[in-house]
Amino acid sequence: MIRRAFLQACCLAAMMAFGSGVADAAQDKLKVVASFSILADFARNVGGDRVDVSMLVGPGGDAHVYTPTPADARNVAAAKLVIVNGLGFEGWLSRLVKAAGNKATIVTATKGITPRKNKADDHKHAHGDSHDDEADPHAWQSVPNAKFYVANIRDALIAADAAGADTYRANADRYLKKLDELEREVRQAVDTIPADRRKLISTHDAFGYLADSYGIAFIAPQGVSTESEATARDVARIVTQIKAQKIPAVFLENVSDPRLMRRIAQESGAKLGGTLFSDSLTDEKGDAATYIEMIRHNIRTLANALAG
Ligand code: ZN
Repeated sequence: MIRRAFLQACCLAAMMAFGSGVADAAQDKLKVVASFSILADFARNVGGDRVDVSMLVGPGGDAHVYTPTPADARNVAAAKLVIVNGLGFEGWLSRLVKAAGNKATIVTATKGITPRKNKADDHKHAHGDSHDDEADPHAWQSVPNAKFYVANIRDALIAADAAGADTYRANADRYLKKLDELEREVRQAVDTIPADRRKLISTHDAFGYLADSYGIAFIAPQGVSTESEATARDVARIVTQIKAQKIPAVFLENVSDPRLMRRIAQESGAKLGGTLFSDSLTDEKGDAATYIEMIRHNIRTLANALAG
């Protein structure tokens, strides 16, 4: 009897200790804030259960032109790590971090990637808007670049939470293998498109890294930022180009107004090839709830529309 009571008390104490341990762990999760949805997905994959990841620009949002809220400032103030893309993508972020006044480590996920420079083309010269030395921020659109993002996030998590080093390494390794598989899928899909049909029109210049990596030509009426608007002259130029180069399809983007592309399709006779996810994931119910789903969706949409 005494022995049984002792066992019960012992178990109860153990359970209580275990219970409080779990509660502590939940509160003690490493607080990570990502500037936009794609970075948040990478951070969740690498951080797993040890991290609490939130994002500033949510699914469907446009990080080029975001206006932070007071809630964002509180969120950043409480964070241990703030993960950003860099390459000039989040022009609004440094002010937010300053306003939040905290000592969070800022992790630039594109560190080590060779930035693609925005080439000055005729259209930019035409309206005196030369961005020739501006870096293109959309590095995530090439899967080999995504591996840099993952490695940078892994190293930052290890630096912030050494006790989780093995977990972060194992999670990152597992995810990097998935990216290798994804890269093979992308290359196979591109191979199905005849070489003379690997060209298309998309709203803003978000796919330069994809174009460079996989040999597909993207032409965009807007520049690398959605901030600039296409002029009537830009539209006329693109319509002429579509006809002259027999560009098979025009694509919509999830972060851009579809009207411009519909008009270009109508005036040029090119078909509408579907929607590409450029700068944001969708919510869980959408076609691109994760980075891997996004790339898969984009490449299938491209291959279906361009294969002819
Ligand atoms: Zn963009």
